[in-house]
Parts: sequence; C-alpha cells; structure tokens
Amino acid sequence: MPRSWQTRQPLTPPVASPPPRFSAPPPPSLNPYSYSTRRPRDGRALVVIDPGHGGRDPGAIGIGGLREVDVVLPISLEVARILEQQGVNVMLTRNSDYFVTLAGRTQMANQAGADAFVSIHANAVGGQRAEVNGVETYYYTSGRRLADVIQRSILRSVPSGNRGVRQARFYVLRYSAMPAVLVEVGFVTGYTDARNLSNPAYRSQMAQAIARGILEYMQGR
Ligand SMILES: [Zn+2]
Repeated sequence: MPRSWQTRQPLTPPVASPPPRFSAPPPPSLNPYSYSTRRPRDGRALVVIDPGHGGRDPGAIGIGGLREVDVVLPISLEVARILEQQGVNVMLTRNSDYFVTLAGRTQMANQAGADAFVSIHANAVGGQRAEVNGVETYYYTSGRRLADVIQRSILRSVPSGNRGVRQARFYVLRYSAMPAVLVEVGFVTGYTDARNLSNPAYRSQMAQAIARGILEYMQGR
C-alpha cells in the first residue's frame, strides 16, 4: 500500500489554503441511510471525522450561551483539512450545521470501509460546576490506542486539563466497524474551557493536536 501520508512533513498553519475537497455528506434533505459513501480507494488511509450534533441538535449549551456545535464544527473542519494536506483521505459525516442521525454517521463510515472514526464533541456538566474543565477521549474496544495517541497529542500541545482516556458505550463507538474514538475537547460549562473554546486560535491548536494524533496513529498501524 502506498504510504505517502507517512511522510513527516511539518504541519503547516491554516493560512491561504484552497477550499477543502472533502467527500461531501448528503444535504440535509436526503436520507443519510441512502447515501452512497463508496468511493474509489487509491490505497490511502480513510479517516472519518464526525462533528457531533448539528442542525436541530445544538448539543450542550454552556457559559455565555456557547454552543457545542459551534465549537466542534470548526475544529472538525480543520482536522479534516490538515489530514487531507498530509495525504489522508477524509470523510466528514457533516460539513455544515445540519442534523445527521447517529446511525447515519456510523453507516457512512462502515459503508466506506474507513480505517478510523473520530467523533469530536464538547462536554458539559450540570449544577453550574464551572470548575470542571479538561479533555477526555473515549473508546469502546478497538479504539484504545487511537484514543491514547490523540489524548497524549492534545496534552502535549494544548493548555488543557487531562480527564483521561475512558471506555464508554457511546453509539458511534459501538456501531463503527473500525477503531473509533470520541474526543471531548473541553467543557462548554467550564470556566476555563468555555473561554478557551470560544477562541478561534485555541480551537485551531486543538484541531492541530487532534490531527497530529491521528497521523501518528496511522503511521504506527
Ligand atoms: Zn456532544
């Protein structure tokens, strides 16, 4: 298998790049179940990036009305763009603010025969506990190593708290046929995280760290 994506090029900052050419998910009017994700594979790895929630489901709402969807979509798009720049095929389960079912997300990945599935979310706790902050990465079974590598990559380069790598029975982890993880990039309800996640520069740091982790994982397979 050609491994052009193994070249250790430095990650370039997200400036003046052409519009991304991701495989487009279906428009919201289409049934995601009927979406054909089969595409010619050229031997390169295929990673599915899954921005949590969307459309009528804004996800968690945090301090100052900070919405999870508004945090995870820009991070996901940047992760996808960096991976593409590094020669990895990327499929986004959605590329703008619309609703996709959980089953629709995993079916896209399974039908495409993806090599890895990375869902990106932001966390929340009730009770106005603004002192709860930090990054968590979840796996169910086969995503353990991918989760470890991504969590480590984030902690290396993003000033965030570490809430660890954890196992959970989330739908997208259980029903993805490939190693799958869910990254909680921070708490929209956390005082520190909400401030950071509102900042595009911080989100960009987070995206770069997640992308580096995915690349490191793909290189070590
Ligand atoms: Zn979420």
